[in-house]
Amino acid sequence: METSSASGARILDGKAVAQSIRDEVAQGCAALRATHGIVPGLTVVLVGDNPASQVYVRNKEKAAREVGMDSRVTRLPADTGESDLLDTVHALNVNPKVHGILVQLPLPPQIEASRVLLALDPDKDVDGFHPVNAGRLLIGLPGLVPCTPAGIVELLVRHHIPLEGRHAVVLGRSNIVGKPLAVLLLRHDCTVTVCHSRTRDLAAIASQADILVAAIGKLAMVTGEFVKPGAAVVDVGMNLVKDEETCRRLFGEDEARLKAVRTRGSTLAGDVHPLEVGARAGWLTPVPGGVGPLTIAMLLRNTLEAARRSAGD
Ligand code: NDP
Repeated sequence: METSSASGARILDGKAVAQSIRDEVAQGCAALRATHGIVPGLTVVLVGDNPASQVYVRNKEKAAREVGMDSRVTRLPADTGESDLLDTVHALNVNPKVHGILVQLPLPPQIEASRVLLALDPDKDVDGFHPVNAGRLLIGLPGLVPCTPAGIVELLVRHHIPLEGRHAVVLGRSNIVGKPLAVLLLRHDCTVTVCHSRTRDLAAIASQADILVAAIGKLAMVTGEFVKPGAAVVDVGMNLVKDEETCRRLFGEDEARLKAVRTRGSTLAGDVHPLEVGARAGWLTPVPGGVGPLTIAMLLRNTLEAARRSAGD
C-alpha cells in the first residue's frame, strides 16, 4: 500500500484503505445475513435536484449495493415542506428494514436542517451528526461516529502512523470534521491542538505537529512553513482549481492536471500546498484519493454497525 510521491513524502493511500474497509464490510454483510438473516439497509433521502448532491447520492447508493446492502434512495421534490420531510424521516425511523438513514445536505431553504437531524433515530444516524451521537463520542460511549473523521483515523492507523503521545494539530473546528476528529485523536492518546480562524500564529502552531490535519476549506493555505519535517499530513480540503497558472503553482508541470483544467474546466486540490508540503512531510494524503474515498467507506461501515446492533450483536 505504501508508495512515495514524486516529491518525497510517502502517500497516505485513501483509495487502498477505503477498498480494504469496503471488503471487510462486504464480508460483514454476508456474515450478518448468514447468522441472523439480516440485510443491512441504507436509505439516502435526497430533497431537490442539486447536481452535486445527485452525484454524491448516486455514489453512495452504488457503494452500498456493491457490499450487499439493501440500498435505497428516497427522492423528494425541491418544494417539499419541512413537515413532509419529517414524516418521511419518522417512517424510516420505524421501518425495521432500514438500519441507516442519511439525509443529504444541503437542504432547500424552507427546511431547517438541524430540526431534521434531531428527528433522526440516533441509532440509524449513519452520518453521526445527531447530538446524541456527538455526546456519545465525547464521553467515549459506543455510537455512530462521523464518517470523515473516522476515516482519517483509519487511514493513520492502517499506515501505522504512531499516535500515542504524539502532538496532533487539527486545523478547523467544524462539527462534521474538526471537532469529532479532535475527540477521536484524543481517544488514541494524541495530545491535540485545535486551530480555527481566530488562532494566532497558525503556522508556528501547525509546525509543532507530528500529525497535521487541514480541514479549513482554503485552497493550499497550508504551505511548507506549516509543516515539521517528517510529519504526517492529512489534507481534508476539496477545492477546485480552475486556471492553469494556479495549477502550475501547486502541481508544477503535471500534464494530467493541466489537461483537466483545459478540458474539464478544473482539477481538485486540497487545503495543503502539494509541492511545498510534499517536500517536507513524511506522509501526505493525495487529493483526490486521500480522505475522500474513506468517507463513503465509513458510511458503509456505520450502516453495518447499525444493522449489527439492531440484531443485538
Ligand atoms: P467548515 O467551513 O464548516 O469549517 C472550516 C473550519 O476552518 C472552521 O472551523 C474555520 O474556523 C476554519 N478556518 C477557516 N478559515 C481559516 C483560516 N484562514 N485559518 C484557520 N482556520 C480557518 O468546513 P468543513 O469542516 O465542513 O470542511 C473543511 C474542508 O474539508 C472543506 O474544503 C470541505 O470541502 C472538505 N471536506 C471534505 C470531505 C471529504 O470527504 N474529503 C468531507 C467534509 C469536508 P471558524 O470556526 O473560526 O470559522
